[in-house]
Amino acid sequence: MTDLPFDLPELQPGSVWLVGAGPGDPGLLTLLALHALRSADVVVTDALVDKRILALAGGAVESMGKRGGLASPKQDAINARLIELAKAGRRVLRLKGGDPFVFGRGAEEAMGLVEAGVPFRIVPGISAGVGGLAYAGIPVTARDVNSAVAFVTGHGEDGDVPAFDWDALAKGAPVIVFYMAFRHLDQVVARLLDAGRRADERVAVVSKAATPAQTVLEATIGTVVADVAAHPELVPPALLVVGDVVRYRQHLNWWSP
Ligand code: SAH
Repeated sequence: MTDLPFDLPELQPGSVWLVGAGPGDPGLLTLLALHALRSADVVVTDALVDKRILALAGGAVESMGKRGGLASPKQDAINARLIELAKAGRRVLRLKGGDPFVFGRGAEEAMGLVEAGVPFRIVPGISAGVGGLAYAGIPVTARDVNSAVAFVTGHGEDGDVPAFDWDALAKGAPVIVFYMAFRHLDQVVARLLDAGRRADERVAVVSKAATPAQTVLEATIGTVVADVAAHPELVPPALLVVGDVVRYRQHLNWWSP
């Protein structure tokens, strides 16, 4: 980009930039992400990246993303493709939804590049669990509510809810943001209640945050499973946020898609 009063690093031939695309709105791309989109020979995108962002690519676009439940390329195949393109001297942009290091397998992909001796750069992005919630008018922290927040995947390695200390989570985190919570929503709710969270506690489900299809449901821990079932327009990708920060939405619901 030539119209900036400072220099951005160049995406060099034979290297890979692992770039976060943010939750959806193209305006949430970083300058480095836009620069890389314009200069990459090949963009290897995951399934979550918005079409309007891919339209900014100057070079070829290949789709290689893991998608919960659907047939998707193996992580090894994705790593192998990135390495193959880089070794062929291409300028490669690996584009991922949100932030590449937040539940995005960015660490695994970066490790693959390290092992293959491929130079790389990490370009952080706005994670859905922060920026996506902001588009729903929900702050992840608010001084009168929480001085800690937990980001949790609702989906463990074995395809079940993750095995960790739910009691500690329920006690320690006043606000919990679940990624990939949809498939196991009933189990997530059951674990939270077992661990002592109140059934009348506020929650929100934010589907397709920061995109034209954003849909938000406010509920309580006790009602959310039935409420989600009654709203088929709530589709993945979606976040579940648990805690009193959800109350802010009644005042801060600033965005309409
Ligand atoms: N690296 C991504 C997360 C990848 S895991 C990030 O930092 O945001 C995939 C999960 O992210 C989805 O199941 C969903 O919970 C969440 N997610 C990603 N984009 C989203 C969006 N636009 N709206 C709601 N949830 C989103």
